[in-house]
Amino acid sequence: MCAAWLLFAGTVSQAAIEAAPPRGEGAGPFQRLILQNVVVINGTGAPAFGPVDLVVEGDRIAALRSPDARQTVSTDSEVRDLSGHYVLPGLIDLHGHIGGDEQGVPAEYVYKLWLAHGITAVRDPGCGNGIDWCVSEQKRSAANQITAPRIYPYVFFGQGREQPMTTPKQAREWVAEMQQRGAVGMKCFGYRPDVLQAAFDELGKRGMGIACHHAQLDVARVNALTTARWGLTTLEHWYGLPEALFDDRQVQAYPADYNYYDEQQRFTEAGRLWAQAAERGTERYEAVIKELLERGVTLDPTFNIYAASRDVMRERQAEWHQRYTLPQLWAFFKPSKISHGSYFFDWGLEQELAWRDNYRRWMAFVDDYKNRGGRVTVGSDSGYIYKVYGFGTIHELEMLREAGFHPLEVIRAATLHGAEALGAQTEIGSIEIGKKADLLVIGENPLANLKLLYATGHPRLREDGEIERVGGVRYTIKDGIVYDAKALLADVEAMVTAAKRERGIEQLPQY
Ligand SMILES: [Zn+2]
Repeated sequence: MCAAWLLFAGTVSQAAIEAAPPRGEGAGPFQRLILQNVVVINGTGAPAFGPVDLVVEGDRIAALRSPDARQTVSTDSEVRDLSGHYVLPGLIDLHGHIGGDEQGVPAEYVYKLWLAHGITAVRDPGCGNGIDWCVSEQKRSAANQITAPRIYPYVFFGQGREQPMTTPKQAREWVAEMQQRGAVGMKCFGYRPDVLQAAFDELGKRGMGIACHHAQLDVARVNALTTARWGLTTLEHWYGLPEALFDDRQVQAYPADYNYYDEQQRFTEAGRLWAQAAERGTERYEAVIKELLERGVTLDPTFNIYAASRDVMRERQAEWHQRYTLPQLWAFFKPSKISHGSYFFDWGLEQELAWRDNYRRWMAFVDDYKNRGGRVTVGSDSGYIYKVYGFGTIHELEMLREAGFHPLEVIRAATLHGAEALGAQTEIGSIEIGKKADLLVIGENPLANLKLLYATGHPRLREDGEIERVGGVRYTIKDGIVYDAKALLADVEAMVTAAKRERGIEQLPQY
């Protein structure tokens, strides 16, 4: 999903949203911060271990020690006894749009929701607010001038060009210019193959990342295998995969009246697409997996963003909407022929059933890819289709689990594998000595129930008959700076309350 994808990406110029205010939250970094008695899930796929004392010095992880080896703590250390808590690497969301003027949400809202869910790094796939805006936010975050995760700007192919690029030379010049302006990668939807291939080549030479959403308008000539051969690094969503898997057709079985701009129709037909691909275990299926593996392509499935397609009522009624969804975002989600992703004009059981079948096949493919050694990452694409920042990322963890991933494989997808896909694995993505202190701390075991990671926690019946909300990230640590995750969530709630008051409403309107 992306603001610009209905139109030619290069011709769209959007107004940027409000940048984040100067940082008013977070404690530290400390000369020495000691998280005592924690259980560590390190992000590499290793099982949990503890209790240990995790020592952070400045912005780096300095030591993991047994509490038995504890010495007298010098007075300049910041010590937190976190008995019963789990510590994970901060989560990495590889498909995190920082809002846009369509959604009308300020960056502060988006960042605080991300951090409240333990997300310490995001890739902005497209830089919909403009490359310069995105790079400015990236730099401010890197310097901890704002309360925000790390940002990795991947700019839309053609952004900033008045006219479509028509020659390989123009594509190469565009890549050079974007790198100079601070982009670390490119996101595309497909394009004229000769021009796009030149861009891939140039990006590869410069060591930049390449993310592709193989949109239907170009997928007949540029599918997942085409771009894999050109040097694709991450495949966004899933489009382009069924097309690479076709063995009895070359083009999706579009009905005669199909019109790509009719979003209900587009998403209805998309729900029938995996059923047209080669079945699991066939020669074609195996050959595609093998080639994607050999070429080192990362799958960034973003399962959660289509969840409403299989159960729209669940997504529309998610328990966090009333308190944490800004009214302007809610309005954007309302079925509409204008808002992208709001395609529920007359969405019924038949569409949902097709999507459930679509998911079954798609999830099997992603799980097979992981089992053969392929890298799969976590991307949310929140800000569309009833998905709210942070909550969508945790739902993605749930859906990877549903696809067959062990909870430790899910956490690895959200941490070390995300870092690897960004080429940032020497700095972030796992709890290892020398790496950045990007961590999340939670008072429950998320491996037992990944839903515990929702900022709103999880309801549990107590012995005394009362229902208690448990879980939710307690601290998010980025660069050694400790954020109170629940306080960030309270800030978001206050923003939502104020926005409702401004509009003279108490509740989000139901329909
Ligand atoms: Zn997107």
